[in-house]
Amino acid sequence: MINRYIFPCLIALATAGCTTKKKADLIVHNALVYTADSVFSTKQAFAVRDGRFVAVGSSEEILDRFTADSVADLAGKPVYPGFYDPHAHFLGLGQVLYQADLVGTDSFEDVLNRLKSYKKNHREAMWLIGRGWDQNDWPDQRFPTRERLDAEFPTIPVALTRVDGHAMLVNSKVLQLAGITAQTRVPGGEVMLENGRPTGVLIDNAMGLVRRLIPQPDAKEKEMMLLAAQKACVALGLTTVSDAGLDRADIELVDRLQKEGKLKIRNYAMIRLGEPNLDYYLKRGPYQTDRLTVRSFKIYADGALGSRGAALRQPYSDRPGAYGLMQLEPRELERVLTLIADSDFQANTHCIGDSANHLILELYGKLLKGKNDRRWRIEHAQVVSPEDFEQFRRFSVLPSVQPTHATSDMYWAADRLGPSRVKGAYAFRQLMEQNGRIAFGSDFPVEAVNPLFGFHAAVARVDARNRPAGGYQTENALDRPSALRAMTCWAAFANFEDRLRGSISSGRQADFVVLEQDIMKIPAEQLRNVKVRQTWIGGEKVF
Ligand SMILES: [Zn+2]
Repeated sequence: MINRYIFPCLIALATAGCTTKKKADLIVHNALVYTADSVFSTKQAFAVRDGRFVAVGSSEEILDRFTADSVADLAGKPVYPGFYDPHAHFLGLGQVLYQADLVGTDSFEDVLNRLKSYKKNHREAMWLIGRGWDQNDWPDQRFPTRERLDAEFPTIPVALTRVDGHAMLVNSKVLQLAGITAQTRVPGGEVMLENGRPTGVLIDNAMGLVRRLIPQPDAKEKEMMLLAAQKACVALGLTTVSDAGLDRADIELVDRLQKEGKLKIRNYAMIRLGEPNLDYYLKRGPYQTDRLTVRSFKIYADGALGSRGAALRQPYSDRPGAYGLMQLEPRELERVLTLIADSDFQANTHCIGDSANHLILELYGKLLKGKNDRRWRIEHAQVVSPEDFEQFRRFSVLPSVQPTHATSDMYWAADRLGPSRVKGAYAFRQLMEQNGRIAFGSDFPVEAVNPLFGFHAAVARVDARNRPAGGYQTENALDRPSALRAMTCWAAFANFEDRLRGSISSGRQADFVVLEQDIMKIPAEQLRNVKVRQTWIGGEKVF
C-alpha cells in the first residue's frame, strides 16, 4: 500500500524537479551576498517568502529548490543586510528638511544669504528656524553673535541651532520674546555674554527657553516630515533607524504611519526621558511590532564637545577652569536609572565627556553588578579615560558611536582635550574590543545621513577629502568586516533585534541593500561615492 504512493513520487522527483520546487516570492541569484551571519560567510543567492529569507546559498542550490514570479539576476553585484542607523534623529531629520539648511556654510555671510533665500521661499513662516552651522568651518572660528542677524532680521524671530544641537544663535527679537537677559541663569546651560550683554548664543539647557516658544508642527506636518526623512534614508540603504529620543505622541504617530503602510522603514524608538514618559512606559512595558520597537529610554548625561558642554574630569585645555556641564544631577541620574533597571527597558545614555562616561559607567555598574544581557548602551562614548574602557566589559555595556564625529571633530578635538586626553577620544577599536561588539550610527541630522560616510570614517579614519593623509588616530580604525557588522548585525543586537534581522540568513526579515560597488574591496577613497542600487524592507522594494 505504502509503496504504491511513494513510488510515483520518487519518479516525479527524478524526472521533473520543477514539480517539487518550493514557491517563493522572490529569488535573488548571481550576486555577491555578504550575509553578516555568525561566520561572516558570503553566498550567491537567496529566496524570500512572506517578507523573510527562507534560504541562502549558491545560485544553483536556490534556483534548484525554489521557484518565484520575481527572479533577479544581479550579475555579480554586492548585496548586504539592510543598513542600520542605531543612533539618529529621524523625526529631527524630517524637521530639518523643512528648515533653513545651514550645513556646510563656509562663513557667517553664507549663513545670512541662505536665510534670506529661505525667507523668500517661506513667506508664511512666523519664525526663521535654521540648523547646521559650525563656526569651526568659518574663517573666524569664534562663536557668532547676534548683531548682523539683528540688522538683517529686526522683526522676525530667528533661531539657528549649531550642527551638534548643543548651541543656538538667536537674534534680539528672540531674546526679548524669551525674556533672556545677562542675569538669566539656567542649570545645565549657559547664556553667553560679552561686555556684560547676551551675545545671542545659548548653550544646552538655555536653548530650552527658546524652544518652548517655537511654534510646534502639528501631526499632519510631522507626517510630511517623517515621510521626507524616510525618502532620504531608504535612498541611502537604511532599513532600520533608531530615533534617539521621542515623546509618546511622536512614537504613536510613527506606529500609526507604519500600520497604515506609509512608513516602511523600521524604527527603534528610544523614549525621551521625562516624568510623563517614564510613568506611562514603565507601567506599559516594552512594545514591539513588525516595524517598531519601543524598549529603551534615551537619557542625556552631558552636552557636546564643540560647544564645551561635554563634562570633563579636568578643565578644557582651551578654556581654563571650564569643566563643561552635566545635564542632570548625579542623584537624578541614579534615580531614573534605578527605575529603568527595575523594568525590562534598556538605558541609552548620551555621554560625551570623560566625566560623563565615568559617572554613567559607575552607575551602570552599581545597578547591573556584573556581566549581563541588559544591553545598556552608552551613546557616543566619545572621550573615555584609560581606566574606564574595561568597565564596558565588566558590565556588558555597549558603545553606540558615530565614526563621522571623529572625522568632523578631529581638527579641533585636541584643542579642547590636549594631546594625552585626546588619545582616549573616538577610540572605536578599543571600545569594540571590550565586548567584541560596537554599533555605528550617524547621529543625523548632526552628521550626514549616508551610512557609507560612517563606514569610510571608521575604516580609513579620514574625512570626505581623505584628510589627514594616513588617517587620524588609526590605531582605532576598524577592519571592514567589523565595520559592516557595526552597521548591521551588531547594531541589531544593540536594539534587541538580532533574532529578527541584521543578517541575511534563513528566518530573518528580508531587509537588504544592493550597491553598485563592493565596499569590502574597493579603495577606501571611493567608499563615499558608492551608489545604492536597491533597498528592500521585508521583501518589498522601497528604493
Ligand atoms: Zn543624538
